[in-house]
Amino acid sequence: MERCIALFGPPGSGKGTQAARLRDELGFVPLATGDLLRAARVAGTELGRRASEYMDRGDLVPDDVIVAMIDDEIAKADGAPVVLDGFPRTVVQAEALAGVLAGRGRELTAAVLIDVPDDVVVERISGRHQARQDDRPETVRERLRVYHQDTEPLVAFYGERGLLRRVDGLGDADAVSARVRAALG
Ligand code: ADP
Repeated sequence: MERCIALFGPPGSGKGTQAARLRDELGFVPLATGDLLRAARVAGTELGRRASEYMDRGDLVPDDVIVAMIDDEIAKADGAPVVLDGFPRTVVQAEALAGVLAGRGRELTAAVLIDVPDDVVVERISGRHQARQDDRPETVRERLRVYHQDTEPLVAFYGERGLLRRVDGLGDADAVSARVRAALG
């Protein structure tokens, strides 16, 4: 069975960069919920319209919307190795993911936490070009608050299941990528 890995961590922790490297270097199919939602918004679909208001506030899009989207994407990946970027983001999503994967005869093989402290997050995102509407400072603060409240419980959730791999997210992308590879074994 091919691997299915989830990357999680605060906004600006470099999940997207690491998912792209896993694609380029190991042939993983990256599924990034943030990218999928932004694409749906640009396409003007019902899903995109529903998601927009939450994204602009820095809040999580409702679980049912996200889970239906990821179920479709896992089906499309058709057994290929998958790296999830930005999903699951809540314990409810993590439980739903286990069900979605079981339905396809698969299971999660590792949940990689890319660990970056809040002050570094704020510094990194304010240094980006603010091409994204949700990169305004007040929205970044809200995304961080939501991360600690809703996503951080995944550390215990995956820790208890023996799936947690904690990676130091400080330093350049090459250094982090080497740590991710080591953590995946
Ligand atoms: P970041 O990790 O830097 O915050 P993302 O592109 O992963 O950026 O997510 C941007 C926004 O998309 C989130 O703030 C949220 O509104 C929405 N989103 C992405 N993934 C999820 C998810 N799994 N559950 C709920 N909302 C999500």
